Amino acid sequence: MAEGIPALLLPQPVKVHEVRHTKIFINNEWHTSISGRTFPTFNPATGAKICDVEEADKEDVDKAVQAARAAEQRGSPWRRMDASSRGRLLHQLADLMERDRRLLATLETLDTGKPFLQSFFIDLDGSIKTLRYYAGWADKIHGKSLPVDESFMCFTKHEPVGVCGAIIPWNFPLLMFMWKMAPALSCGNTVVIKPAEQTPLTALHIGALIKEAGFPPGVVNIVPGFGPTAGASIASHMDIDKVAFTGSTEIGQLIKEASAKSNLKRVTLELGGKNPCIVFADCDLQLAVEETQKGAVYNQGQCCTAASRIFVEESIYEEFVRRSIETAKKIVIGDPLDPQTSHGPQISRQQFDKIMDLIESGKEEGARLEYGGSAVGEKTLYIQPTIFSGVKDHMRIAKEEVYNLFQFTTDGSDTGMEIFGPVQCIFSFKRQQEAIERANNSKYGLVSAVFTTSMDRALTVSAALETGTVWINCYNALHAQTPFGGYKMSGNGRELGEYALAEYSEVKAVTIKLSETL
Ligand code: ADP
Repeated sequence: MAEGIPALLLPQPVKVHEVRHTKIFINNEWHTSISGRTFPTFNPATGAKICDVEEADKEDVDKAVQAARAAEQRGSPWRRMDASSRGRLLHQLADLMERDRRLLATLETLDTGKPFLQSFFIDLDGSIKTLRYYAGWADKIHGKSLPVDESFMCFTKHEPVGVCGAIIPWNFPLLMFMWKMAPALSCGNTVVIKPAEQTPLTALHIGALIKEAGFPPGVVNIVPGFGPTAGASIASHMDIDKVAFTGSTEIGQLIKEASAKSNLKRVTLELGGKNPCIVFADCDLQLAVEETQKGAVYNQGQCCTAASRIFVEESIYEEFVRRSIETAKKIVIGDPLDPQTSHGPQISRQQFDKIMDLIESGKEEGARLEYGGSAVGEKTLYIQPTIFSGVKDHMRIAKEEVYNLFQFTTDGSDTGMEIFGPVQCIFSFKRQQEAIERANNSKYGLVSAVFTTSMDRALTVSAALETGTVWINCYNALHAQTPFGGYKMSGNGRELGEYALAEYSEVKAVTIKLSETL
């Protein structure tokens, strides 16, 4: 991102002496937790505590839900507001985020360890564009008039679902917040949002901007806290009408179960993947090398879209591996607040240990370690970008489940969830049909990618891939206009695009008896 640009010309982080917003945000006011508890949030780059944050639990979630319910009642300022005014408020929030962009990017980097320019450009751009996209939709959400049988007239209306819960992961705290909040508000809902316990800071700053933008009290409520307490309270709450979750498959299953056992609230889930890339010999090789590597190690590999299984046609396999190593050497590991850095630390010790364990088991089982494979420095959370090739039939490291890294099966087929670390696993294939079968041989189906210069092949293979997104000659190409979500166990429902509006609307059919057929 920073390549070739003098450091002085790059946007710079702001100096954060003290984090201003660390409390629970309900009804446009800041609250201490009912239990009196707080929890610390840490900078993964240094291990230093950034600040303590008020810890929301069930009682605080109840309070937030009451506020959100009151704000969405018929006759409330939010429900009476013109749809176009809702859109204006969303634009107003986007303007304030642009004003505070450097501060938000700095907070995101402090809390997650992701490189500052990535926060500044990718996360902030994506968040602001998502808001503006749904701001535009607010007064364009409408039903249909239907040609029903006999002497009736029927039309449909799209109404808000009501109070929407959102549970956010730590890898893209601000972006995932916006993917959920923006369509929910565009459709006229109110929200109760729980940021991940590792990364609550940008969400809380957004609370301040929500108030400044002029949203009525109770429309947006933010409850920082832990998963099994605050998160579980949202999932099982009797007065929440819908919950949107991004995170691990295990927790996604718990959320769906909690919904079933409580009030059958609507559930959308964006879970993991074990995402295949198929690289054909006729591709633009350098492009394929760079994009697949970006796919594997971007955000320190902590992406549900991570390119976990890279299948390369046999005739270009060696050259692909060689160039992947050369490209990996250009990755700049360093202080995430330095705009020249392109690779930061993992989020936590727990994640770091799991990834290192799996890298070690990969080495022991005889996968060829082509590059990296070690921690960087002593007692840090940095892991070198790592490349494994030469995956052989007998290798088997771990099976299934989150973080049980790469199971080197005989053919690179279903290997459980993504590694969530900066590790690239490169397999080879001989025939197109074989590559498709191996790519689809997974219980997940989030994203996939195809690299080829043949449009015919690109379309044929993309039709055969069982994933919610197929990227052709690109990777991680996400846009506010494009729906995102998974097939199979990668989730339910879609975020982004017009499709997401359906997840945040109820459809009401109104049928009128007429005295005669029109
Ligand atoms: P990760 O393992 O990557 O942290 P999780 O799926 O555990 O991913 O976390 C994603 C989000 O889900 C976080 O906000 C977390 O607090 C929340 N969460 C974790 N456990 C639960 C749970 N039992 N119920 C509801 N939310 C949870």
